[in-house]
Amino acid sequence: MDYMEYFGKLSLKVEPLIDDTTLRDGVQMPGLAVSPEDAAEIACLLDEIGVERIELHHFHDADKKAARLIHDLGLNARIAGWCRALREDIDDAIDCGFEEVGISHPVSHIHFRAKWPDKSEDELLRRVIDAVEYAAKDHGLRVFVHGEDSTRANWEFERRFINAVAEAGAECYRICDTVGIGLSDPAAPLPNGIPAKIKAIKAETKIESIEIHAHDDFGNAVENTMAAIRAASGLWDKVYASTTFLGIGERAGNAETEKVIMNLYLHYGVKKYEGKTGLLKKLADLIGHATGYVIPPNKAIVGDYAFAHESGIHTHGVLKDPLTYEPYPPELVGNKRRLTIGKHSGKAIIRFKIKSLTGMEPSDEQVAAVVSRVKAIYSGGRKASLREEEFKKILNEVGIEI
Ligand SMILES: [Zn+2]
Repeated sequence: MDYMEYFGKLSLKVEPLIDDTTLRDGVQMPGLAVSPEDAAEIACLLDEIGVERIELHHFHDADKKAARLIHDLGLNARIAGWCRALREDIDDAIDCGFEEVGISHPVSHIHFRAKWPDKSEDELLRRVIDAVEYAAKDHGLRVFVHGEDSTRANWEFERRFINAVAEAGAECYRICDTVGIGLSDPAAPLPNGIPAKIKAIKAETKIESIEIHAHDDFGNAVENTMAAIRAASGLWDKVYASTTFLGIGERAGNAETEKVIMNLYLHYGVKKYEGKTGLLKKLADLIGHATGYVIPPNKAIVGDYAFAHESGIHTHGVLKDPLTYEPYPPELVGNKRRLTIGKHSGKAIIRFKIKSLTGMEPSDEQVAAVVSRVKAIYSGGRKASLREEEFKKILNEVGIEI
């Protein structure tokens, strides 16, 4: 496996755990929905891939049904319900069979002013403490707390907040980069420097574990997630990454689960994904199908064109050695190499395509005839690649039998 020569040079001194929130934050994306049966199928595959925690909604009837189906599967992954800091939400989670809940509460004054203009900081703290104690102490649930808008929070307040929820029984604090302004630069200060925040929480609070939930408004969600994991290395025992498949989610979406997994597996040598990455494309396609999300063809790792080659130089290179234009073999993620015929196709790929369709070596004249037909089609203004049937039709026209 030559490609491995270029990976695995880094290692982590922290256990990264994935909290997949495709079925919660992901389906909050406008226009997406998932049936309870499909949600259960998605949860099964998430579990197989090795996600440690699956986050769910449980407020509508369909969500309740999905939660029931998923609990009944008896997965290895923990199942967590999303709650506001309200006893009624926690009661509802308990009714749906959850043993773990994430309690969401803003930590920035932007949110306080908009949502509770008349409440003091202490009143808001009491509100969240009550909810955490109710879930953790009164009902024995495993609790983590989402610090909504952490990257715009006043640190003095956020530190008090984290210590208060730890005291109340929360085991994990989630840094929510709610509007995606987090920075991965270790020099970036609080509140939005992600490494700085991971370190400050360790140094100044007593919460047991830490989590990152990054949004992609600046396109930095994956990098910010990785930055949190790197900053936690050597400092924390474990770090959760809250991500969604395909990056679906509010506005510009979240960090992609599949990207974080492949970064961890290949760049940082995280062995637990060995033999499981081959399911990534299958799960991405299932989620696309089940939610109505159209996967962009050039989506990294799981897009149909993530390993497609069309230009002459690229296809020529890939035919000699796929590593020329691929970081790793597509089979590693369950995807496949596609050599497409289009406006940039040269002789090498057309010869290869004819050979793979007919099993025969075409003559130079035959190749030239096909190339000129293809060129004629594209000089007419066509943009899309040729479909297989269209290419076969051209072969017929120039007298090549299939
Ligand atoms: Zn979110």
